[in-house]
Amino acid sequence: MMKDCLFCKIAKGDIPANIIHEDEQIVVFDDINPQAQHHKIIIPRKHISTLNDLHEEDKLLAGHMMLTASQLAKKLGIAEEGYRLVVNCNAGAGQTVFHIHFHLLGGRHFSWPPG
Ligand code: 5GP
Ligand code: ZN
Repeated sequence: MMKDCLFCKIAKGDIPANIIHEDEQIVVFDDINPQAQHHKIIIPRKHISTLNDLHEEDKLLAGHMMLTASQLAKKLGIAEEGYRLVVNCNAGAGQTVFHIHFHLLGGRHFSWPPG
């Protein structure tokens, strides 16, 4: 738990969010400013600032986050049509909340390359 970290506060329940899934390691909730019909944020309870700060010891956690994204996509009914899983790392890539997270986006067409 990092003081003054928005996503640590959401994980702890100190700031409300529409949580759609949680377990001992991770929390998944609706993005407050959705960029697609489905826009979920997948976070670890553990505070990790960016993808640059992911270490060997976080291997299982990172795998669990990705597997959960895959399972949720199926549950949301977007797995077949396609969806996007995004991690923005640092400001140059658009990261604004410095607690590592996956964006799970679905329900529309996504162009390539991303902006
Ligand atoms: P980033 O830009 O860091 O990759 O993604 C941060 C995401 O968190 C953004 O999509 C933003 O809309 C979302 N976000 C920021 N503040 C809040 C909040 O208080 N509640 C929720 N549910 N999402 C938030
Ligand atoms: Zn945090």
